[in-house]
Amino acid sequence: MSAPELRIDQLTGLPAILAPGRADRPDSFQTRVSEPKGPDNCPFCEGREDRTPPEVYATRGEGGGADTPGWTTRVVPNLYPALSEGAEAGVDSTSGEAGAFASAGDPLLQSRRAGEADLFASRPATGVHEVIVNAPRHATAMAELDEAQFAAAVETWRERMRAHGEAAYVQLIVNEGGGAGASLEHTHAQLYALDFVPAAVARERERAGAYAERTAGGSLLSDILVEEVRRKERLVAIDEEAALICPWASRSPFELRVLPRTATASFAEDTAGAAMIHTALRLLAKRFDGSPELNLWIRTAPRGTEHFHWHVDVASRLSVKAAFEFATGVDIDTYPPERAAADLRECL
Ligand SMILES: [Zn+2]
Repeated sequence: MSAPELRIDQLTGLPAILAPGRADRPDSFQTRVSEPKGPDNCPFCEGREDRTPPEVYATRGEGGGADTPGWTTRVVPNLYPALSEGAEAGVDSTSGEAGAFASAGDPLLQSRRAGEADLFASRPATGVHEVIVNAPRHATAMAELDEAQFAAAVETWRERMRAHGEAAYVQLIVNEGGGAGASLEHTHAQLYALDFVPAAVARERERAGAYAERTAGGSLLSDILVEEVRRKERLVAIDEEAALICPWASRSPFELRVLPRTATASFAEDTAGAAMIHTALRLLAKRFDGSPELNLWIRTAPRGTEHFHWHVDVASRLSVKAAFEFATGVDIDTYPPERAAADLRECL
C-alpha cells in the first residue's frame, strides 16, 4: 500500500488516515522519552504503605492487616484526584465578571448575555478516582509481570469496576512511561467512576445498538472478529478466550485491540482476556527491545447498556500528534496495521 487511505473504525465510526509514505524511516521509532528512576522512594513498592492514602482494597494471601506488607495487589485513592467524591456545593457559573479586562461603562458589561448560564456551563466534577497498584515489586511495565501476577492485577481491575457499578461509566486505564503520562513509574492502573457517559463511549454504544437493530440482534464485535480471523492479515494471536488484532482503522503505529471470543457487554462481569492482554504487552516489548511508552484503556458497557461489547485498546507512543490531528480529530498513521500485525506475529 502506498497511496494514502482513509479508513473508518467499525466500533466508533471515526476515520483515520493511513499514510505509510509519510514515514521517512518507517522502521525506526522512538520508544521512550524518559528513563525509569528505580525503586528508591517509590510510594507503590511493598513496605512503603504509609506513603499512600489508606488502602480501600487489597488482595492478600495470608491475612495481614490493612496498609501492611504481604499484598498481591493494592488499591488506594488517588492523592491528586481528578474527581471529587460526594456532592458538593454547586459552582455558581453565572457570577463571572469581566474584572480588570473591562473598564466602567464598557458596553460589554451592560450586556445580560454573559448572565445566561448555558453559555458557561459548569458543575462539580464528582466521582471516584482510584489507583490500583498492579504488583508489590517495582516493575515499570506490565509486560514484566509473570502470568499469575498479571492475572491478579486484571482481576483486581474487574473487582474495583464492579465495586463502582453504580457509576454511569467506569473508565479504567494504564499509562506506562513518562511520555505517556505516567507520573509514577511503578506499574499501576487508574479507575475513574464517572457520573456521565463520555461522548466517545456513547457513540460506540449507539453504533453497537444500531447494528443489533439492523441485523436482528447481531453483534458488531463478533462479526468483526469472524471477519478478522478469516482474513488473517490483521490478526496477531488468538486463544480460547480472546483474539488480538491491529484494528482496521488504527490511529497510530502498532495500535492493538483485544477482543473477547464471546462478545460480552461488561468487562467487569466477564472473566476472559487477561492472558491476551499480557500477550499484547509482551509482544510490543519484544518488537521494540523493551516496552514502549504506552496507554491502555478498557472500553466497557455503560451502566444499564444491553448492546455493547467490551474490548481493550493499547496505543504505543511511537508517534506524535500534531496540529492536523488536534484540529480535525483525524489521526494519521504512518505504519499500516497489516504490517504491524505481521511484525508482531514474528515475535510470537
Ligand atoms: Zn515501586
